[in-house]
This record gives sequence, C-alpha cells and structure tokens, in this order.
Amino acid sequence: MYQCKDVAKEANDYIDGNISLRKRFGLFLHLIVCSCCRNYLQQIRSTISTITILKPKEKSTTNTKDLAKKLRDISCNND
Ligand SMILES: [Zn+2]
Repeated sequence: MYQCKDVAKEANDYIDGNISLRKRFGLFLHLIVCSCCRNYLQQIRSTISTITILKPKEKSTTNTKDLAKKLRDISCNND
C-alpha cells in the first residue's frame, strides 16, 4: 500500500502520466483514503496550469519536482 511519502515521490510522474498502470493504481487507492495527498496533487496541478497559462515560456524551465516538494511541505505534515 502506498504511503504519503510515496505519493510525494511519484507525484510528478503521476501528473505527467509517465507512470506504470500498477503504480498509478496504487497511488489512486491511496488518494481515495488520503485527503491530504488529494489536496497536494490538486495544488500541484493548479500551480502547473497557472504557470502554463501565465508564463508559457517558463513551463519548460520550471522544476516541477522541486515545486512538488515545496507544495508537499506546505500541504502535508503527517509523516
Ligand atoms: Zn497521503
């Protein structure tokens, strides 16, 4: 069973879709039970889409892994 730290580790690939079906399903199961990680992924998605809309040129240079880690620190403190 996936835990919050696993979600944090895989969040970037999960959002990008670069993830195996097995992993995706494991994360999905965790997201059903963990509102913390749901909020976390939602925040990443909205932040990325904001960057994409407002600063298209910066999208490719934005470090989404770093971003994901920062957001996780904000949204999730239950390790
Ligand atoms: Zn979680």
